[in-house]
Amino acid sequence: MFTSLKNCNVNDTFKNSIFNGLSVDGSLYFPRKIKTLDELIQNIKELSNQEIGFLVMKNFINSEIPDKELKKIIDQTINFDFPLKQIENNIFSFELFHGPTLAFKDVGASFLANSLEYYTKDKVLNILVATSGDTGAAVANSFFNKKNINVIILYPKNKISSFQQKQITTRGNNIYAVELAGDFDACQHLVKQAFNDKKLRKKINISSANSINVGRWLPQIIYYFILHKELKKINKEKEVCISIPSGNFGNICAGLMSKKMGLNFKKIIASTNINDTIPRYLSSGVFDPKQTKRTISNAMDVSIPNNFPRIEKIYDDNFKTLSKNLISEMVDEFQTKDEIKKIFNNTKYILDPHGAVGLVGLKRNLKDNETGVFFETAHPIKFMDTVGKILKIREDFFKINLNFNNKETIHKIKNDYNELVNFINLIN
Ligand SMILES: *Cc1c(COP(=O)(O)O)cnc(C)c1O
Repeated sequence: MFTSLKNCNVNDTFKNSIFNGLSVDGSLYFPRKIKTLDELIQNIKELSNQEIGFLVMKNFINSEIPDKELKKIIDQTINFDFPLKQIENNIFSFELFHGPTLAFKDVGASFLANSLEYYTKDKVLNILVATSGDTGAAVANSFFNKKNINVIILYPKNKISSFQQKQITTRGNNIYAVELAGDFDACQHLVKQAFNDKKLRKKINISSANSINVGRWLPQIIYYFILHKELKKINKEKEVCISIPSGNFGNICAGLMSKKMGLNFKKIIASTNINDTIPRYLSSGVFDPKQTKRTISNAMDVSIPNNFPRIEKIYDDNFKTLSKNLISEMVDEFQTKDEIKKIFNNTKYILDPHGAVGLVGLKRNLKDNETGVFFETAHPIKFMDTVGKILKIREDFFKINLNFNNKETIHKIKNDYNELVNFINLIN
């Protein structure tokens, strides 16, 4: 069962939580209980990634979805590899980008799409989602041609890579790409407004596919258990520091949940780009978001991270406990590019800008006797506009077949809620 961050009397099923997106009071859903998974952790070396995924999700869904069906959903979700690659002496890259849209969001998007499909029968559901680049692609892929589901993807004009844009705009059918003249926070704001619009919600069913949705957020916990297994296989599961490139703080929040569920990471680092509300907050105690700035790690161009209230909740809204359990580092544009260059020259490994942010944040905190892992959240080919320039390589350097259908269909709107509502009404 799920409660809300603002009102502990809320008690919703998994089904209602993923359909509603946000709880009735407009705040985020949160699991009522977080149980530890000691037995799973004991036996983890013996388990497949799918078995791990099943046990982690069953912990939250209990018997709401029958085991057989939940296993099916997991099998459709966890169907690619999560390799852990040694980059330098005690530093590993945990590659989460081997899914269909080449970023880590595939697991969450696919779990959500398959769960919603399991529940939708005759009613039409509208998925409304704001993207800083990769969510849109993952959602477009996972929901493509799902019966009775319309997907409306809002992305900020000129602020995502051309590769990411094509992933969203060339699908067609039930996938609608909406380009907003504004930044990602503006997209996120309009989505929230729609959720709080009682008149609209009376007329049509809407749900979200952002990491505010527990169906997308929780499956990310599986990564941390898989990581633990991979580290255990090479006897490196002790003294582990992990660094997660963070924007909306959904992935890192999943990591902090995994710690509550029994995994023993020594340090967990949220690495951000110059949109550094959280690093500043943890050092000063003052929550002071600034205007979002555009960076080369665009999926993290967020100044008000949606999932941060969940992180505070994990630590009972106690700032002291929170700052003991979470380290946060800001990495600027120069340091990011410099790391991409250095790692390529020394090791031939190609970082994407997000992974590079994670790596720099990791190195600042890693001691020689510790094992460091940074999450590589996207394939560098998604960011050839920047990585290609920095390393002087071209797309065909990677042996990946990119077959976009060329026709882009884009619906353009101003940063105006009414324009969004008109569009939603138009397609319903
Ligand atoms: C979305 C994204 C992030 C940020 O993840 P959050 O869960 O929003 O913090 C980091 N890297 C890439 C490549 C992403 O697509």
